[in-house]
Amino acid sequence: MTTRNINATIITIGDELLIGQTIDTNSAWIAQELNKIGIWVHRRLAVGDVWKDIWQSLEEESRLSDVILITGGLGPTADDITKPLLCQYFDGKLVVNAEALQNVKHIFEVYLKKPLLERNLKQAEVPDTCTVIQNKRGTAPGMWFEKNNRIFMSMPGVPHEMKGMMIHSVLPKLAEKFQLPPIVHRTLLTAGIGESFLAERIKEFESTLPSNIKLAYLPNYGMVKLRLTAHGNDPKTAAKLEAEFDMLKQQIADVLVADRDTTMQEVVGDLLKQKKQTLSIAESCTGGYIAHTLTQFPGSSQFFLGGVVSYSNNLKEKFIDVRPQTLAGYGAVSRETVIEMAEGVLRHTGSDFSIATSGIMGPDGGTPEKAVGTVWIAVASRKTSEAHSYYFRFDRQRNIEMTAMYGLNILRKFILDQ
Ligand code: AMP
Ligand code: MG
Repeated sequence: MTTRNINATIITIGDELLIGQTIDTNSAWIAQELNKIGIWVHRRLAVGDVWKDIWQSLEEESRLSDVILITGGLGPTADDITKPLLCQYFDGKLVVNAEALQNVKHIFEVYLKKPLLERNLKQAEVPDTCTVIQNKRGTAPGMWFEKNNRIFMSMPGVPHEMKGMMIHSVLPKLAEKFQLPPIVHRTLLTAGIGESFLAERIKEFESTLPSNIKLAYLPNYGMVKLRLTAHGNDPKTAAKLEAEFDMLKQQIADVLVADRDTTMQEVVGDLLKQKKQTLSIAESCTGGYIAHTLTQFPGSSQFFLGGVVSYSNNLKEKFIDVRPQTLAGYGAVSRETVIEMAEGVLRHTGSDFSIATSGIMGPDGGTPEKAVGTVWIAVASRKTSEAHSYYFRFDRQRNIEMTAMYGLNILRKFILDQ
């Protein structure tokens, strides 16, 4: 066993990736998991289902990386060519793997309740030069090859199947194979300040960072994550990273949302859970998106009571008691309306806090007084309520996400102030 930096390449295979029909989420997930065990992904590559392109990528990447993880191209259809290619690349011949065959038969009998097709039987064939990594979640087995001190692992493209294989077999095997030096990350989340302004503020800090600690800016929807990454075996490095992280936190304390890698919705959820308080929502322009983001993680039932998607004026009146004269006098997108929405849903549900949104998300629907992108957000508690307006200049989808994230940040501060 040697202790040195282990470099990896991820190759994702499939024409659908190149035309943008499928978004390559496999690479991102694999990279995160490799990072956790101390393997540095220094290259990611997407290639089509094209023999010479896949072959060439294997030749090139094996010159550069210790570990080459491959996903895709293992399906039972003619367009998927990864397996015969690997068989030839590693000088093998295809043989039936008994356990994989048993697995394919089992899936067809028990889950699909369909007769087995010849092409599916072929999925149990593997090159005799590989170690088979069984696929408990699908029909295509994984294949682990070793050649010239390089490891090649081929997995199916289906994310759920690939993840099962990685978690249960590949990651433990890699960790056992190499003595891995740590890669340590510390991440924090900020909101309400743009990345350039943030960079201006921490210019000094950034310029004095030691060379083995790197700072990264990750902006997204009105928030910026800052990540410090340290490489190396030296135990002093970890301590240094902590000290630098503390310093960074102090410098941006007023815009700090969390000192871990998290999301705004989780921060708000955790805050409510910690205070044992509840939330209800009245959404107009966000169409249920805030409720959706808050219910993405387990345990949301502890704080989230529910709410209404009161998109029409009629429903705003009928379900949460917005007064017709408010709508007629100020319009649906106004301070007065969102305040009544937030207070109405709070009253009806009996929650401790509520949030309401109303806006013009575009591309149409703007007026000279209220341009596309105008948004009102209100938050309420049993004691008080407040409203804020924004003007977002993006496309419809992004305006909705911005409204949700700004709204949740307003709610977070409102809860902390109470
Ligand atoms: P395959 O193993 O090539 O038959 O891929 C099966 C399915 O997995 C494809 O139809 C895609 O929907 C999905 N898939 C393939 N590659 C990726 C990837 N890199 N990220 C996310 N999904 C993928
Ligand atoms: Mg494919």
